[in-house]
Amino acid sequence: QMATETRTHGDYTVGWICASSIERRAAMAMLDELHEPLPTPEYDRNIYTLGSIGKHNVVIACPPMGTAAPYIISMTNIFRAINFSLLVGVGSGIPPDVRLGDVVVGTLEGHNPKEMMLNPLVEAENSVHVETWAATPPQPLLEALKKIKTEYELSGSRIPEYLERLKRDSPALASRYLKSDSLQDLLFDADYGHVTPDFANLSFIPREENDCRFCDKTMTVKRKPREMRVHYGLIASADREIKSAPLRDRLCRNFGGKVLCIDMDIARIKILFPSHYPCLVVRGICDYADSHKNMEWRDHAAIMAAAYAKDLLHEQDLQILEWLTPVDYGPRHRDFLRRWQPETGLWLLDSAEYKTWLSTKKQTLFCPGDIGSGKTILTSAVINDVKTRFQINPVVGIAYIYCDHRHKETQQIDELIASILKQLTQKLFSLPDCIRQMYEKHKYGQTRPSLNEILGVLHTIIGEYSRVFIIVDALDECPTSSGCRQTFLKELSNLQNQFGVNCFATSRLDPDIIAQFRTNSISLEIRENAKDVQLYVKRYMEQLPAFTELDQWQQETMLVKVLEHVDKRYDLA
Ligand SMILES: [Zn+2]
Repeated sequence: QMATETRTHGDYTVGWICASSIERRAAMAMLDELHEPLPTPEYDRNIYTLGSIGKHNVVIACPPMGTAAPYIISMTNIFRAINFSLLVGVGSGIPPDVRLGDVVVGTLEGHNPKEMMLNPLVEAENSVHVETWAATPPQPLLEALKKIKTEYELSGSRIPEYLERLKRDSPALASRYLKSDSLQDLLFDADYGHVTPDFANLSFIPREENDCRFCDKTMTVKRKPREMRVHYGLIASADREIKSAPLRDRLCRNFGGKVLCIDMDIARIKILFPSHYPCLVVRGICDYADSHKNMEWRDHAAIMAAAYAKDLLHEQDLQILEWLTPVDYGPRHRDFLRRWQPETGLWLLDSAEYKTWLSTKKQTLFCPGDIGSGKTILTSAVINDVKTRFQINPVVGIAYIYCDHRHKETQQIDELIASILKQLTQKLFSLPDCIRQMYEKHKYGQTRPSLNEILGVLHTIIGEYSRVFIIVDALDECPTSSGCRQTFLKELSNLQNQFGVNCFATSRLDPDIIAQFRTNSISLEIRENAKDVQLYVKRYMEQLPAFTELDQWQQETMLVKVLEHVDKRYDLA
């Protein structure tokens, strides 16, 4: 289903790179939610699909038909918050360990990367250049890999579950991508070559027809059937298609027999990468790089790789975050922000007080204001400004709350703190163990964690960031009953003093709340600002035909006169 909420380029943190439309469709089939497209520059010819998997917003990038590879640099320039990319597609497996339909994840575990990189195999005769390549996944991704490996050993993968769901939700796609009984995993002896079907009058045999129907099945290696497996290890990238078992085996020996997969797309994609680009290669195995290589397994292999990538991103995080609190301030924020006119509120964003608050750790900026002074819209402008500055910085955490007396159920101290915790967790790639432990502890008894438990976890999570911004609108709407507001103010002040958090808060002119911010914070009163009103008036007049007909001198005189009245009203003249 299409989500209607507006998102920006900065909301996307994971790149998913495909080399063909088959891989792209497999990736799309694994999205939990499809998002509306965002504008991209005309020169960028990548095909982008946006969506989410678990708590991650994902950009699927695919080159347009007939071109070599998607332009990663271009993608990361447009979607600047992307932390890393997954390269998800198909590749050739190296027997005997790897079989068709398996998944190989490129890692350098147990290998010396330099040693492995130094020995490319160059076969002049076959004009092929092969080297091992495992990109450097960022630390959080390595941790997610470790976690998923343990999970698979303990309780198996969720891949069958995803495929089952695909069958239910999109039968047409499923019939194409899921394994049918006709699909056989035949591994022929290395010295037994493929027998090309003898179509009498055809000089060209379509790839789809070039299957092994004429090959002698007694020449296959006998193996016990087994379930699909995920392997972690070396992936070799070749710049030509390899369709020869002897060449494949020579290559494998050259790399110490450690190669699990040969891939062709990476070599093309790789040259377009900035060096040390953080990414992870995931390949579904569709052939054995021998002369029998054909297209039969390609679709299925593509969906297996995509399903594994989904599992890696999914990790059941979302469920736990929802359990923390179902409250999401995002829609309300976007609604307020839409009503904001960027020129207004500049007096705040340009003020010395605001700039000091932004640049200094452990600062609180308190902005009291009268009813109707536009506090909430200004808060949305502040959130927007902080997000624009820091959203793509992985070590800066941002959380915000719009207090609203109409939403009583969300205005309880546990919910408020849990919401801050949820927002700060969402930015981390994988769910920290402390949250998982809290969840495990409470889920069976269906109990809720105490405020102290939530606070303890929150303090740990804040430690993951070098800076944290917490923005709270309308503190006066936070209820005083059962000490909610009092506790909330106390905890905010504690976060500032003990953990160096930057808080921004607005409130009506409530003496109790103002007293709380008397020490340890900067205050800046929000008034129905004269400058903002001037701007409105000026803009309004500029649209009047009678005004635009005046010459410039007359216009200016008129403006000065009108604005004098505005100033008088606001006592600023
Ligand atoms: Zn064959």
